[in-house]
Amino acid sequence: MGAARVPVLRVAHRAVRRLRAGHPWIFRDDLMAADGAEHGAAVLVAGPTGPPIAAALYSATSKIALRVCAGAGEIPGHDEWRRRGRAAAEFRARVVRDDTDTFRVVFAESDAIPGLIVDRYAEHVVVQVLVAGAERVVEPVLAGLQDAGLRVLSVLARNDPAVRTLEGLPREILQLRGATPHDIEVRENGTRLFVDPWSGQKTGAFLDQRDNRRAAVRWCTGRVLDVFSYQGWFAVQVARKATAVVAVDSSRDALAALRRNADANGVTVDAAEDNAFDRLRALDGAGERFDAVLLDPPAFAKNRRDRPAAMRGYKEVNLRAMRVLRERGILVTSSCSYHLGEAEFLDVVADAAADAGRTFRVLERRSQAPDHPILLAFPESRYLKCLVLGLT
Ligand code: SAH
Repeated sequence: MGAARVPVLRVAHRAVRRLRAGHPWIFRDDLMAADGAEHGAAVLVAGPTGPPIAAALYSATSKIALRVCAGAGEIPGHDEWRRRGRAAAEFRARVVRDDTDTFRVVFAESDAIPGLIVDRYAEHVVVQVLVAGAERVVEPVLAGLQDAGLRVLSVLARNDPAVRTLEGLPREILQLRGATPHDIEVRENGTRLFVDPWSGQKTGAFLDQRDNRRAAVRWCTGRVLDVFSYQGWFAVQVARKATAVVAVDSSRDALAALRRNADANGVTVDAAEDNAFDRLRALDGAGERFDAVLLDPPAFAKNRRDRPAAMRGYKEVNLRAMRVLRERGILVTSSCSYHLGEAEFLDVVADAAADAGRTFRVLERRSQAPDHPILLAFPESRYLKCLVLGLT
């Protein structure tokens, strides 16, 4: 498509201000008109008057109508997407340690590749296309990863998240290249773990918690409780130093994978299939006590409307976890809802501590691992909060 035929979309002053500050999203409410714009295609963006100031990918359906992808007059083509794929992979080579072969290679807007996630499990790659505009960049980005020297034996598209429906995209799982195994052995923080990208949650695992798992190993000794354990990536790593580890999750499949991960590392984890809220109450009632509790619930707030209910959920689960802590115990508590900021999360946890009648020190305020980079001008990219709290 020649540059002359790219439509120019005018947006409100408010959107221009946000864009100039470096924020990559423009909401539909701020769009003045969308004439000629094609779902998933690149457009130019201009203020209410004057020439274009940026290029963006257009969505005809999402509340986020435009995702900025370049300056004005430089609509990225195949070579530019390929260069960005390469740059993303080269950045990971700088921030991921040698004892890990499994990490996020592309984190969407944070890598200037809007709406595309690429995770790498050893030499197998899993992509997730979250917006229509990202469909056409997958191939050049994958070529870029290989330019950076990343070996890619297979590529699976986990295009089954519900958000795809909002973009008018089908929910499907597609083998794009090679044959992705159901059972990939990976290494994280020197631990052996198994991943099934076909059926696991997200793309198979929660890679954003890698550095927090490393921190948990540092802080947690004695008897440890891992609540919302999933496949035991915290539990198994912590078990190398702890005297006993109990894991709780409501998913039977996740716990079967956890047991296998524990076996592969020669550690023992006592896994309980249960609702986390119920199990914490039962443990408290039975007088069970722990030297450390890990809490990593799913996102309770999926949108802003859910926030009040989500706050109650976070408070409740933290309160119950605090009750089973021994003196001088450690609580490692996470929230991955980006609709709940760090300050609000701290408030909720402080509320829980007040109700529990306990005083905690904030030992560490952590976030996601750096292969999920946070853009300074894009607060939405900082979604994971992880507090290490010490009971006084
Ligand atoms: N800590 C994990 C990731 C946790 S993801 C890791 O580091 O890999 C959240 C987990 O909570 C999922 O495994 C899900 O099955 C589980 N879950 C969701 N709701 C639950 C509930 N009410 N009780 C127990 N587990 C729950």
